[in-house]
Amino acid sequence: MTISSSTIGYPYIGENREWKRALEAFWAEKITEVELTNTLKEIRLSRLKKQQEAGIEQVPVGDFTLYDRMLDTAVMFGMIPDRFNWQGGEVPLATYFSMARGNQNAVACEMTKWFDTNYHYIVPEYGTKKLVLTENKPLIAYREAKDELGIEGKPVLIGPYTFMKLSKGYAHKDIPAFLLQLVPLYEKILTELQEEGIEWVQIEEPILATSIEFEEMKAIENIYAQLTAAVPGIKIFLQTYFDAVEWYEETIKLPVHGIGLDFVHGKEKNLQALQTTGFPADKILGAGLVDGRNIWRANLEEKVELVTDILKVVSSESLWVQPSCSLQHVPVSLAPEQKLEPTLKSALAFADEKLAEVVSIVKAVRFGADHVHEEITESVNACRQLAGLPERNRKDVLEAVQAIGEKKSQRPTPFAERYEKQNAAFQLPILPTTTIGSFPQTPEVRATRTKWRKGELTDEQYTNFINNEIQKWVQLQEEIGLDVFVHGEFERTDMVEYFGEKLDGFVFTEKAWVVSYGSRCVKPPIIYGDVAFIQPMTVKESVYAQSLTDKPMKGMLTGPVTMLNWSFVRDDLSRKEVTYQIALALRKEIEALEAAGILVIQVDEPALREGLPLKEEEWAEYLDWAVNAFRISTATVKDTTQIHTHMCYCDFNDFINTISDLDADVISIETSRSHGELISVFKDFHYDKEIGLGVYDIHSPRVPTVDEMTGIIQKALEVLDKKQFWINPDCGLKTRKQEETVASLENMVAATKKVRSQLGVLQH
Ligand code: GLN
Ligand code: ZN
Repeated sequence: MTISSSTIGYPYIGENREWKRALEAFWAEKITEVELTNTLKEIRLSRLKKQQEAGIEQVPVGDFTLYDRMLDTAVMFGMIPDRFNWQGGEVPLATYFSMARGNQNAVACEMTKWFDTNYHYIVPEYGTKKLVLTENKPLIAYREAKDELGIEGKPVLIGPYTFMKLSKGYAHKDIPAFLLQLVPLYEKILTELQEEGIEWVQIEEPILATSIEFEEMKAIENIYAQLTAAVPGIKIFLQTYFDAVEWYEETIKLPVHGIGLDFVHGKEKNLQALQTTGFPADKILGAGLVDGRNIWRANLEEKVELVTDILKVVSSESLWVQPSCSLQHVPVSLAPEQKLEPTLKSALAFADEKLAEVVSIVKAVRFGADHVHEEITESVNACRQLAGLPERNRKDVLEAVQAIGEKKSQRPTPFAERYEKQNAAFQLPILPTTTIGSFPQTPEVRATRTKWRKGELTDEQYTNFINNEIQKWVQLQEEIGLDVFVHGEFERTDMVEYFGEKLDGFVFTEKAWVVSYGSRCVKPPIIYGDVAFIQPMTVKESVYAQSLTDKPMKGMLTGPVTMLNWSFVRDDLSRKEVTYQIALALRKEIEALEAAGILVIQVDEPALREGLPLKEEEWAEYLDWAVNAFRISTATVKDTTQIHTHMCYCDFNDFINTISDLDADVISIETSRSHGELISVFKDFHYDKEIGLGVYDIHSPRVPTVDEMTGIIQKALEVLDKKQFWINPDCGLKTRKQEETVASLENMVAATKKVRSQLGVLQH
């Protein structure tokens, strides 16, 4: 054996998002299933070829998906909820996509974040149905690669424990029964792979890098003992990623033939454990050296040093060099980017460039660093030049962040007093009604923006168009009878992009797409420099909207933590420092809004909870600075200026303290899909500020009835005081149509009036 180059997974969207286009065309019935299958096969094979040609020796097969790998795994095990009416046997493509996207009769499976990434997977549902192997997906993928390209691929699987932990529909006591069904199916898959003569199989257990209990580690040990005993002819490569493993000693003793560790995220802990505890001589170590989560070019000199350190513990024969995780989290290739500034561009590495980095590190070990002298020098220079960019070394920004120090930002007056002053200033009715910010972004709005961006419309024409939309919706809000208005966010492309384009320190790519969920792709901004305010970003629209009405107009911004969590972030500063830079820039925007007479300002933080670290012991520190960042942005306003915030998908049993710590005067939270559960939180926790629990679900075109919403409001008022409760939909309305939006909001206002009169309070 000798040192080897390996990848854990590779993007499947294609160089031009061909994958997304094919899927969406199929869903829209523009192409047939055969056409879909053919296009996908082409993409699948070309990415295998690319990895092989780049010099990757252990090429993964089976990491390609038609929607999501967790969904693939669930379908492979026949874990198909009854509502999809599957009768056994081969699973039709229609059933697979229904689970992902829902159909006329059955709601889609739930979706949630894949660990601490911005990718979302389909949550498998464990039910009463007996699990069966519907097909051996890794085997099929292996055969295809071998037959079509002669590639001896490494089949990949999501491991049984991770799969079980990320599924839902069972209680703690059912875990043994679940595993008892699951593990034999893995045995069956592996047995068939063994019969095929396959040497290595990658089984991914990222759960090992989370805060698991010792008992769980024991359960994992038992599973792998069982699997290795069943397939002695197969070598299992147990892959972890996203952080250091929680139980290093136990992990390296697992009865498998290779273990992949992340030496980028969790590097210190993994490396230290490796150096103090060692690594078994009879196992392969997969060293995740190249960052699979971020887009920065590796400094190969540092990577060679790191590998040299690792080689003090592990022999080079027992080493695989690989990215830290699947490359699906980064864009495909830098090649199509034409507009990036050269210094910046040469400091980036997307999936294809990362393949080359892995190969260079392997060559450095195999033939000596001199052999890749040029690659090393180039990478060092690129990193050095990036580091030297003036945009990254702004004294004013550095000093401003340093000036914050460790002290917490705080509004000078406590909420109770602010409440009285704001009450006197705004004179809002009991149970004030509002919306979350956006109104329908019609195809016309988007088309007009595109025209303007292409230069086909003048700035003035575009502004007029936006102002017309604002005017129309101010008028509609008057007619509906809402209490606090919004301008509608018609000028925005996206919550982060809009602000990123107007701040220093951000850069945008042309084609650097990554999958967010299903076929939905996002092009995250890159925070490459110091973030700073240039000029007001939202004042013009808000002021215009306010000029049209006597009702308070809510200014609308995206919060610092959300901007951070939805971007690729420079890695030479801590995430905290970058967030503080953004927070200070937003503070200037908020002050500008206030100075221009916008006295209600909402700072959205839908991604605050998403940023929680994988390890529970790191939560407190993250929340501490994340909350403080919000307060840095918002704490300098007058007592009478009302700060709102908004969060989505908030599973907030363990989060209500944090929400309270933000010290926002009003928070709105998406709750309509889990209302009962949420309301119970307020029985035990005394929330003392104003709060709106979304009274209807905006994700569906359905218009909720007055009675329905009256019921929801009444229920909330059992645990919350009428003086603190706000009435709003549960998120922005940009994806809805005008008609349904107006109808829903009219019903919402009618429900509010009904409850107000039941409470015997004055009507406005
Ligand atoms: N203000 C934003 C909107 O209404 C909030 C979006 C979000 O919560 N994701 O669209
Ligand atoms: Zn929302």
